[in-house]
Amino acid sequence: MPRRSAAALATSGEVLRLIRTGEAVTRAEIGRVTGLSRPAVALRVTELLERDLVVEDTEGPSTGGRPPARLAFNAAGGVVLAASLGASRTQIAACDLAGAVLAQAEVAIDVEEGPGVVLPLLLDTWEGLLGELPSARVRGIGMGVPATVEFAAGRTESARVMASWTGVVIPPILAGRFPVPVFVDNDVNVIAIGEHHAAYAGEIDDLLFVKVSTRIGSGVISGGHILRGALGAAGEIGHIPVRDGGGVLCRCGTIDCLDSVASGTAILRDLRAKGREVATLSDVVALVRAGDAETMSVVREAARQLGEVVASAVNLLNPAVVVLGGDVAETFQPMVSGVREVVYRRSTALATRNLRIERSRLGPGAGITGCALMVLGQILAPDAVDASLARSVPRVAQLR
Ligand SMILES: [Zn+2]
Repeated sequence: MPRRSAAALATSGEVLRLIRTGEAVTRAEIGRVTGLSRPAVALRVTELLERDLVVEDTEGPSTGGRPPARLAFNAAGGVVLAASLGASRTQIAACDLAGAVLAQAEVAIDVEEGPGVVLPLLLDTWEGLLGELPSARVRGIGMGVPATVEFAAGRTESARVMASWTGVVIPPILAGRFPVPVFVDNDVNVIAIGEHHAAYAGEIDDLLFVKVSTRIGSGVISGGHILRGALGAAGEIGHIPVRDGGGVLCRCGTIDCLDSVASGTAILRDLRAKGREVATLSDVVALVRAGDAETMSVVREAARQLGEVVASAVNLLNPAVVVLGGDVAETFQPMVSGVREVVYRRSTALATRNLRIERSRLGPGAGITGCALMVLGQILAPDAVDASLARSVPRVAQLR
């Protein structure tokens, strides 16, 4: 009987998944979907109710007689702490178990000051935010950092970019204050997760997010999940070499990376070399608005170089949508149209048949949303829920 083996597999974690996705929301439905006996369903549901992961609602449409209790995922059953570290500013938040922001703060801090300064500041800020909330049972922490991260270990790499962070294993430091699961990922991966969930979930499973800011990076959503590669180094589009970069040394130590010819830093450098007085990207925006021909040609050239690399990525990955984010892409319409032009010309016909190339819809909030969702995806996965139930002693047992 195949039903029996399915029943053996349906753990409490799996039952939570059914309730969260709405596939089964009454005890009878859970029994039907899983093949579990009534007592087995009751046991699992009780476990989830006791852990505040599920709530029960007996009010339903009155059709005569008592309606069956409907079960719902309890987004208020805990808090995840999120931090999205940028080169110059960091967003910090406490979110509910659906990823909605409950309290947030933004601090101006240079990540180059190092983990010894940045991490204690994060911990103190989270503590302050938790103080604003009525109840705050922390269930996990998620953090995005502007560096390559060996995901499983939560260890930062990229020696030449964030020197003081090289080899730092972040999770144990944060878990010292909040003893919960901690996940650290590259900032662009985190933004890609946030952008996908908020703007495209349920519609698109394959998305390439390209962030063009001070640096260039990308996050790949493939089949609905972030693609990290073997260790977490996937998506480093900024360090793919371009063909005719002119011999520029990249911060990673090699020559003519995309990052060294098309990033915000590169655009500023090229304009200064042409005698324009530009301190920040807003100065570049002003020149674009004023129709300065030299500035337009520098931005167009950056767009062309970016487009060539994105075209290769499109051939390799066949995404349904390419999202361009980061302050450079979001500010310069010529950049988006430039990339679009090159990609449609240089990628294969099938890869571009239904391809959309769009600007980010989520903007600066994507990092925080993505951090929270990254944690929730991990701690609410059936295996993780079962492991945490096995570790903790249920309230009923404590009472007896
Ligand atoms: Zn490089």
